[in-house]
Amino acid sequence: MNVPKLGEEAIDLLRRYLMIDTTNPPGNEIAGARFLAEVLANDGIASEIVEAAPGRANLRARLAGDGSLGALVLHHHIDVVYADRRYWTVDPFGGEILDGYLYGRGALDMKSIGIMQLAAMLALKREGVPLKRDLVLLATADEEAGSQYGARFIADTHPAWLAGADFALGELGGIHHEEGWRAPLGMIDISEKTGLPLRLTARSSPGHGSMPWATTAPHRLVNALARLLAAERAPRVLPEVREFFARLATVLPRGAGRGFDDLERSLRDPAFRARFLDDRWYAAMVRTTFAVNMLKGSEKRNVIPPEAVAEIDCRVLAGDDPDEIVRWVTQVIADDAVEVTVVAPAKIPNMSPPDTELYKSLAAALGRRVPGVVVAPRIMTGFTDNWIFRRAGLQAYGFSPTLVGAEDGGRVHGNDERISLENIREGTRLYAEVLLEMAGA
Ligand SMILES: [Zn+2]
Repeated sequence: MNVPKLGEEAIDLLRRYLMIDTTNPPGNEIAGARFLAEVLANDGIASEIVEAAPGRANLRARLAGDGSLGALVLHHHIDVVYADRRYWTVDPFGGEILDGYLYGRGALDMKSIGIMQLAAMLALKREGVPLKRDLVLLATADEEAGSQYGARFIADTHPAWLAGADFALGELGGIHHEEGWRAPLGMIDISEKTGLPLRLTARSSPGHGSMPWATTAPHRLVNALARLLAAERAPRVLPEVREFFARLATVLPRGAGRGFDDLERSLRDPAFRARFLDDRWYAAMVRTTFAVNMLKGSEKRNVIPPEAVAEIDCRVLAGDDPDEIVRWVTQVIADDAVEVTVVAPAKIPNMSPPDTELYKSLAAALGRRVPGVVVAPRIMTGFTDNWIFRRAGLQAYGFSPTLVGAEDGGRVHGNDERISLENIREGTRLYAEVLLEMAGA
């Protein structure tokens, strides 16, 4: 494999891909899909494009193996989030390279990963490497707005695109480093919290604002919410989370991770628990969370309405049962006049274990990317398409062979999103090595 040449080719491909505006909405992923199809066709790889709606395109291409093992799906989403040009110092769709960085919306999230996957696949094709499993490049639409036209559409209407696959690689993970840390932390995402949208509706008789009483609908709602926010849902440490914090402790500045080596035991200490749960990320890793984000009462200041509503973004920790969560909320708000409803069907969290052949290969690859990196399995607090692939029976991991600091990480969905050329070169090489290890006969 001509590694230097492959790296330069990946940079050029990513530049061109970033110059295609696939801002969602409207997405217009068809433009990105056609670009990928053309690049694949130049190397004799056929691809199929399906549109879930006009312009909302998904692409699948396959490098055939001998069928002795199930396919490995390489997934990325074609769409990107809106970029406000006023706050960018470069054109977000200009494909500009400055001081060793390629700038553009999608540079990290996640056209870069799609190009690493594509370039690695091209490399294996050119080398004529015999494969024991199919390699499937899957590019989907609409991830940034719920995947209705993308991964969900594919799983529901084109199950053949995933049939027979053992594994999927998709969004996130990656190597993170911060000032003062003793080593970088390499993360491979094995699971993610899922949303359980809840609504609290308080009801009472209406009236005039000049003569309020204690149990108006808005007052009932506010008091119920206060009880919900004050109630401490007991933290629960999943084995994988215990492992994550034990590894995290070894990279944090000395002393910062005290107690993380046995999180379950440490959380029994009230002082430690208070400190730990005060960190919003840590807290979200060990319990189901409730964010009260939308409130609705009267349209008029002087009118006491018959109804007041709160919409709650509840995120479920793996192992928690949605019915139990609803029962718990109902019990802590303790008011029969406040109804708790589940707004959309619950998604049950799923997980791919950190002991598969693929996980081990990914961990080793991250170890080669940055010597001394500590690799840990992570349960994401957010949500990605990997949940959909796991539901379809695949083991799916969030994997990025990139080293990204806090500053560049903050540019994702922000301004001046960029990726270092080194990350493109090295990431492409690592992707090719992982494919060779997992699929090479
Ligand atoms: Zn993304």
